[in-house]
Amino acid sequence: MLRTALGFLVVAIILDAGHPDLFLSIKGRAVLYLATISIVAWEIYTFWYFHNEQFLKLKSGIKDHATDCNNLNHHIEELKRTQLDINSYDYGLSDRYDTSRYQFKRSKWAKAKRDEKVHNCSASVCKAANDQPFKYLCKYFDIDVNEETLSHLESALNNYLAAYQGKILLEQERDRLMQTLTGPLPSLFYKLNKSRLAKELGFEPVRLVDIHFQTYRFQYVSSGGNSSYEVSIVLDMENLEKFIKYLGDMLRFKNSAKGQRALMTPQLREKIKNRDGNTCQQCGISARDEPNLLIEVDHIIPISKGGTTTEDNLQALCWRCNRTKGATLYQATNSVYEPV
Ligand SMILES: [Zn+2]
Repeated sequence: MLRTALGFLVVAIILDAGHPDLFLSIKGRAVLYLATISIVAWEIYTFWYFHNEQFLKLKSGIKDHATDCNNLNHHIEELKRTQLDINSYDYGLSDRYDTSRYQFKRSKWAKAKRDEKVHNCSASVCKAANDQPFKYLCKYFDIDVNEETLSHLESALNNYLAAYQGKILLEQERDRLMQTLTGPLPSLFYKLNKSRLAKELGFEPVRLVDIHFQTYRFQYVSSGGNSSYEVSIVLDMENLEKFIKYLGDMLRFKNSAKGQRALMTPQLREKIKNRDGNTCQQCGISARDEPNLLIEVDHIIPISKGGTTTEDNLQALCWRCNRTKGATLYQATNSVYEPV
C-alpha cells in the first residue's frame, strides 16, 4: 500500500516539476516532498531492519515452525484439489457443428455440449431438476446410487472439511508465532502489515481462493434460441453433506437387510475426534500439546482398498501422520493418489 502511495507521489512530483504554476502552492509542494521523503526513509529502514542480524536471528528462531506451517499449507492445497469423479460412463468424444442460419444463444449450447458436467435438456427436465436436484443429478449424469459413489463423496467431504479447518488453524498458528516475536518493529508490522511480516519471516502465503467445488448444470435453449435457462447444482460442502444423506437413505431403503452404516458427516468427524481424545492414534500428539494442531479423520483400511465408513474403521490422525500415510499408500499402489 505504501509503495502504491509512493508511486502516486512520484507521479505528482513529476507533473508538478513539468508545470510548476498549475498544480501546487509552496505549502502543498512542501507536504508532497515531505511525504515522499518519509515513505522512502521508512522503506529504507524496513529493508535494513529485515536484513539485519537481529531480525535474521528472530527468523531463524522460528524457522522450523515456519517450515511446518508451509508443509501444512501444501497439505491443505492437496486436500483442496480432491476430485469428484462420480460419473459412471464416458461416452466418448465427437464433433458437432451448428449449421443453422440463425444462431442466437445456440452457439452457447454448442460450446457447452462438450462439457460432461452440462446436460442439455427440455424445459420440463430443467424445472424438475430444480425441484429435486439430487434425484436428477443421479439420473442424467450417470451417477450410480451405490456404496462406491457414497464412499467417494464421503472421502471428498472429509478432505474438504479438513482443508477448511486446516486453513483456519494454519492462520491462527502463524499469528500465534508472529505474536511471540519481541521488538518494536515486528509488533508494529504485526498491527499494520501482517502479510509483509509473514513474508519476511519465510511463511508462504495462505491462498485465500476457496475450494473449487464441482458444479453440474442442466440447461435448456428453445429451438429458436430465444428462450433459455439454466439450473446449477454446486456440490459445495453443505450440498455434499445433503447428497451423502440422500444417497445413504436411498441405499438403506434398497438394502435394508444390510444394516445401518455410518455416514461421514461433520457430526461423525467430531464424534470420532472426541472419542480419540483429539489425539493422533499413530504418534500420540494431541491438540493439548499443539494448540493449533489439525486433527483429521482417517479410514484405517482405506476406501480404495475396500474399507468402509464404520466407526471401528475410523481413527483420529494428525495431519502429518495422515499425509505420510497417504504418500506411503501412493508409493505402494503406484496409482493415482486418492486421499484417504
Ligand atoms: Zn500423528
